[in-house]
Amino acid sequence: MEILRTREELRNAVNSVRGKSVGLVPTMGYLHEGHLTLMRKARSENDVVFASVFVNPTQFGPNEDLDRYPRDPEGDAKRCESAGVDFLWMPASPSEVYPEGYATTVHVKGLTDGLCGASRPGHFDGVTSVVSKLLNSTRADRAYFGEKDFQQLAVIRRMVLDLDMNVEIIGVPTVRDTDGLALSSRNKYLSADDRQNGLRLSESLERARQAWAKGERDGATLEALIRQTIETGTPNEIDYVEVVDANTLRPLREVPSNTPVAILAVRVGSTRLIDNARLDRAEAIRQLG
Ligand code: AMP
Repeated sequence: MEILRTREELRNAVNSVRGKSVGLVPTMGYLHEGHLTLMRKARSENDVVFASVFVNPTQFGPNEDLDRYPRDPEGDAKRCESAGVDFLWMPASPSEVYPEGYATTVHVKGLTDGLCGASRPGHFDGVTSVVSKLLNSTRADRAYFGEKDFQQLAVIRRMVLDLDMNVEIIGVPTVRDTDGLALSSRNKYLSADDRQNGLRLSESLERARQAWAKGERDGATLEALIRQTIETGTPNEIDYVEVVDANTLRPLREVPSNTPVAILAVRVGSTRLIDNARLDRAEAIRQLG
């Protein structure tokens, strides 16, 4: 595996693999089994695999966790190598990504208004802009994203379609710990108590899935069930809980859908966690005790 630190090294690496199929896995590092699952899938479907590790400042708001976001560049490099990555783009500094005078933003309307877009203004502009740059600079044929960030995946699919980007976007199901907690780099912030309280997220999703399986179709009722499961007996603070259509992200409260996804963001201790699940799937999200 080759580690690329400058834009010139990245350009040379991309030029050296012309004619081969390229898979890309963009990440912010502090890699876990969720990220590695994306990388292994990319490995199995492409001649060449690029991964990126870059904590992108433009997708963090002024009061968010940019400065304390966990980092482990050496460990990440080892993990990427073990997952079969050929080239790891780990910019030496943000100026390798954003040259002097950088002035361009990619904005997807509509899909970015609600959910995380409402509580994190500007976040998705940061994401779509940096992902556009990565898709252009690596000339990826396929790019891999986790369903864990469900809204992000929907926004990126919209962008690629709208801008005629010649890349296939592949969504990968959320990887969870054995107790049901969705893997996230931010889980590092959780205390033992927080971790216990955090289990209410996947529990609430599983309860909603079971309710859907039994025929409950009312968005408000499903949302209330989720809220109750997350909040009862915990200090968890809900940012949002919504049951929406998986493609349009429009709430079931407004439009019925056969492809419902429950999607939520909750502050657990000082950490904001996100999770989601398709309610129409037969498999359990996790076992309930
Ligand atoms: P991040 O480093 O958090 O920006 O995530 C990089 C990529 O990994 C994104 O496409 C995420 O959706 C994906 N990802 C993060 N956590 C998981 C998980 N638990 N399961 C599957 N994919 C994940």
